[in-house]
Amino acid sequence: MSSALRVVVVGAGFGGIAAAIELRDHGFTDVTVLEASPEGLGGTWLANTYPGAACDVPSHLYSYSYAQRRDWSRLCSPQAEILDYARGVAEAHGVDRLVVPGAEVTSCAWDDDARRWRVEAADGRAWEADAIVLATGQLHRPAIPALPGADDFAGHVFHSARWDHALDLRDRRVAVIGTGASAVQLVPEIAPLVGKLVIFQRTGNWFMPRRNRPYPGWWKRVVRHVPGVQALRRRFVYHYTESLTLMIRHPRTLGLIGRALSTTFMRSQLRHHPELRERVWPDYTFGCKRILFSSAFLPALARDNVELVTDGIARVEPRGIVDERGVRHDVDTIIYATGFKTTSFMFPMEVTGAGGVSLEAAWAGGASAHLGMTVPGFPSMFIMYGPNTNTSGGSIIVYLEAQARYLRQALERVRAAGGRGAAIEVRPDVAAASDAELQARFAGTAWVGCDSWYRDGEGRIVTNWPGYMREYEAAVATLDDAEFRVLAPAPSAGLERVGEGGRDPVA
Ligand code: NAP
Repeated sequence: MSSALRVVVVGAGFGGIAAAIELRDHGFTDVTVLEASPEGLGGTWLANTYPGAACDVPSHLYSYSYAQRRDWSRLCSPQAEILDYARGVAEAHGVDRLVVPGAEVTSCAWDDDARRWRVEAADGRAWEADAIVLATGQLHRPAIPALPGADDFAGHVFHSARWDHALDLRDRRVAVIGTGASAVQLVPEIAPLVGKLVIFQRTGNWFMPRRNRPYPGWWKRVVRHVPGVQALRRRFVYHYTESLTLMIRHPRTLGLIGRALSTTFMRSQLRHHPELRERVWPDYTFGCKRILFSSAFLPALARDNVELVTDGIARVEPRGIVDERGVRHDVDTIIYATGFKTTSFMFPMEVTGAGGVSLEAAWAGGASAHLGMTVPGFPSMFIMYGPNTNTSGGSIIVYLEAQARYLRQALERVRAAGGRGAAIEVRPDVAAASDAELQARFAGTAWVGCDSWYRDGEGRIVTNWPGYMREYEAAVATLDDAEFRVLAPAPSAGLERVGEGGRDPVA
């Protein structure tokens, strides 16, 4: 019997890939990555294929530090290029072979006696694991508002993250509901194609410029051939994005600079459309919601075939949408760009820890995890992109890499304690104290200045990290043994494989 710790990673997006690479690079040979999508790895970059889908974080930073590319096509790469990158990195590190596609995990249950996890998929397959890494992210389950009459709509309906590529939008009358980061990217792409576009905005946004043209050849040659340019560029983008956090953390001082820059930009974009300008203007603190980078969205609103509706939606009828002023907008297609169920994290997956306590029950007072990763009562369970680890300006990949290094250190402790059947668990007092400290850091920042998808139903901010990227990296750089309890191997740990575990991990 192999004594290698068996690790099951759930989710093959950037987080799951980072975890698999880190673990394999440090001698954890038994790693399986379960991925719900039948198409395999890629995560959000597999799901979001809407026209114009791109990362609004520059690729020099939105990439693994150990897999830097010198041939990005533009500042913010399009979806296909990012997906290609993710696949390439996974292949280069040999972790693509660890991915089990089409394995939609429905439950993870901790067995107190055997000290291991049982992971089950929707199709009945099951895996046993000494440790689990839940890398399902925050932005994977589309949120579609329950609008009255929506079921009776006679036309085409889809969410931005489930784009219907079979539908030819040319000359159609299209409604886009929502004006967040996804809408801002897709609207300028479809506006010239469609017959009519009606955009339903609930809240205006703060914009910053972003043209995102393809890099000219000379610049690509400089990045490729001049030593240090790539690294310098990454460093620059890192600090630039940290400056956004600086403004968000200090809304009454430095935030006013951001607000002034955004104001100047938005005014210049809509200088000939004062009425439109008034209607898109945000009524909340700069940085409270995600700052949107686009030089194409506001001008698209001024097109003749585009209408911006700022009245709420009263109901949907078979052939259109009626706003709260009673005006009916005739459309034959509705695109929900209404975001994701961010605060549900891995749910509706059932996660049951020590003593049969469910994670949902443990989080009854709001989701929280020590440094976003570990939860008391859930031994050898690690969350990636978990509670309070979202970034409002930086690159989530910086966080994911840091998390991969941290959870690898935790599993090294388990390996040292005897390997299979041993486990590691964060101390409840440590988790409670770090949560209290983290929540206190939101006071006085822009994040508390409005309602947003960063908050749960009770208003607690559960998605975002309240500080800088560098602070998070520093906080998780070295696992503090005093914060954890290591459980020695259970005497009763029988270690048979449960059920059909898909393909065997590559040794
Ligand atoms: P989002 O930012 O949550 O935006 C959803 C939009 O739908 C908002 O404008 C929201 O209005 C609106 N909405 C929700 N329910 C509504 C309702 N019942 N009636 C009318 N409007 C409604 O979602 P997203 O645009 O998909 O972006 C989600 C996150 O994904 C982003 O914040 C970002 O982190 C990530 N993302 C990143 C990129 C990238 O380039 N890196 C691109 C796309 C998305 P309110 O503002 O009033 O709630």
